[in-house]
Amino acid sequence: MARFSRPKGTQDILPEDQRYWEHLLNVVGSTARDYGFERIDTPAFESTELFARGVGSGTDIVEKEMYSFKDKGNRDMSLRPEFTAGVIRAYLENGMQVWPKPVKLYSTGPAFRYEAPQAGRYRQFHQFNAEVIGVPGPLADLEIMLLAWDIYDRLGFKNLAFQLNSTGCPVCRPTYIKTLQTHYHEHIDIICDDCRRRIDQNPLRVLDCKKGQCQPVIAAAPKTTEMLCDECDAHFSELKGYLDALERPYTLNHRLVRGLDYYTKTVFEVWAEGIGAQSAVCGGGRYDGLAELLGGPRTPGVGFAAGMERAVLVMKEQNVDVPELPVPPVFVVYLGETARTYAVKLLTEIRALGVGARIAMRGGLRSQLKQANRRASKLVILLGEDELSRGEVTLRDMETGEQSMVPTTAIASVLQERLGA
Ligand code: AMP
Repeated sequence: MARFSRPKGTQDILPEDQRYWEHLLNVVGSTARDYGFERIDTPAFESTELFARGVGSGTDIVEKEMYSFKDKGNRDMSLRPEFTAGVIRAYLENGMQVWPKPVKLYSTGPAFRYEAPQAGRYRQFHQFNAEVIGVPGPLADLEIMLLAWDIYDRLGFKNLAFQLNSTGCPVCRPTYIKTLQTHYHEHIDIICDDCRRRIDQNPLRVLDCKKGQCQPVIAAAPKTTEMLCDECDAHFSELKGYLDALERPYTLNHRLVRGLDYYTKTVFEVWAEGIGAQSAVCGGGRYDGLAELLGGPRTPGVGFAAGMERAVLVMKEQNVDVPELPVPPVFVVYLGETARTYAVKLLTEIRALGVGARIAMRGGLRSQLKQANRRASKLVILLGEDELSRGEVTLRDMETGEQSMVPTTAIASVLQERLGA
């Protein structure tokens, strides 16, 4: 029978890689909590309509990349392709509108997009995500940018850089889009087929095109920041002022537009060395229009989403210091059947003390000691029938090779002393 393989674009995260993930989750959680963010977990699937409205039915994500299905009750459902729509749905559904503002939430978990898999791009991937909801001013944008940056900084990433842009709001964006469309129509015979289609369907996305022939047209395109209304311009200036005061480097990037329709004003990415030039580890922005699109009251919000696989790639590429996962310090070995039963009892007693312990499950004494060694156990407790009849066990320190007899009644106190437990 043919063996099964994992679905294209998915990964098995093997035990040897788990320390990267655990470290990343620890840094994300502790930094987010230090900054006053609270954790929220929303379902991995929601109604398809939520994403169609919240992400935008004209976007690649909704049009081409969603894992959509009918459930057995004939409802249209989709695996989440991103977090924000679900978090804002939860905000509205759980009455968070009446909570003191801002409401600061973070999440981590899997997301799903049917994309062409390549290095750092998967069909099931993981994100950490944060939102500041309920505050219209740029201090909220700054808070989100600082959280994203500081997570990477605490991880020890080098050569971080912000890419920053403002794509305006429903007041100034329509004029900008008309100017952009005029510019593109003037170069209609140069640009790629995709961009010809985008001009009318999703005009901001033309700025995002990677095709060679479109690059000169993008470079000469009008910039959103040249056409911001007074409110958007003031918002952007204030945000840049904070970043300058904090000496956080940023590059203005007029090509930076997000594929999601609900973004307003600020758009940013964090770039890090190690996953190729121009690779974002994190992207975010303001989405003042989203809650209303989902049937709620007008609610300002700003957030970011960051890929965890990409963060792990950078951790490896940049040789970031990642703690080893702890292994149980105690390994119990035994000689003979009576001793084995006693060994199982002792194992559970040691575990009940809160001390990590394993037991050999196979082999003679020599093989059991080898297992203890291979598993990097610090202490081995050896139970032999003669010693047990005297009420003693042998304790061997695997690092020093030192061996001593310990009365069974004293095991708890000796372990506490040796392991600081
Ligand atoms: P987005 O939601 O598209 O703004 O993406 C935010 C971040 O999620 C990106 O900067 C990536 O780090 C990560 N990301 C997005 N799509 C994928 C994918 N298909 N595979 C892995 N990471 C992804």
